[in-house]
Amino acid sequence: MERILIIEDEEKLARFVELELGHEGYQVEKALDGREGLELARAQPFDLILLDIMLPGLNGIEILRRLRRFSEVPVILLTARDTVMDKVSGLDTGADDYITKPFAIEELLARIRVSLRQKREKTVSNPCLEAGDLMLDPLAREVRLNNRSIDLTRREFDLLQVLLENKNIVMKRELLLEKIWGYDFDGGTNAVDVYIRYLRAKIEETSGQKFIQTVRGVGYVIRDE
Ligand code: CA
Repeated sequence: MERILIIEDEEKLARFVELELGHEGYQVEKALDGREGLELARAQPFDLILLDIMLPGLNGIEILRRLRRFSEVPVILLTARDTVMDKVSGLDTGADDYITKPFAIEELLARIRVSLRQKREKTVSNPCLEAGDLMLDPLAREVRLNNRSIDLTRREFDLLQVLLENKNIVMKRELLLEKIWGYDFDGGTNAVDVYIRYLRAKIEETSGQKFIQTVRGVGYVIRDE
């Protein structure tokens, strides 16, 4: 299920969009101010962010600037009328698209579908994931560290892939469990810790490099140095 974050201070609009996206089968989180939205984007993985420009405190452009330091998640800006400069600086700052308020929900849904499709295509055309000297090729299902091939089991590989796909974002144990073992698995989140240990033994202990950070009580993250 694709996850979308709405950062929008107009509560009614945020709630409306949340309901509509929910109907379309997206999993939605919303934040009513910029800082909260930025924190959510840092703490959880999203496939797309809808970002209002006119926010109290930190405005949308500033949020986008900070977001782009750690994430390449597609962003669609929600702009008020007559703010051509906002659109221009938004696209310059790394927004993928924008939509002017008031908008028809069908138009927003169409733009969301386009952005998500572009994101998937980008992943297919350049599939290799990297962190420092570590490289994972999802198509060849190969992991290399300092150019030496590392032998991983299927679960270890999948776990490393999810962490690398969500670089700089703390992945909760529950979410890792769901992504790698599936909803039905009832072995508990211990399985995640066990496989993180296996992974560390293979990629960290041998190289002396640290890739996977533990966020106590939450989960795991691989960060850019
Ligand atoms: Ca606003």
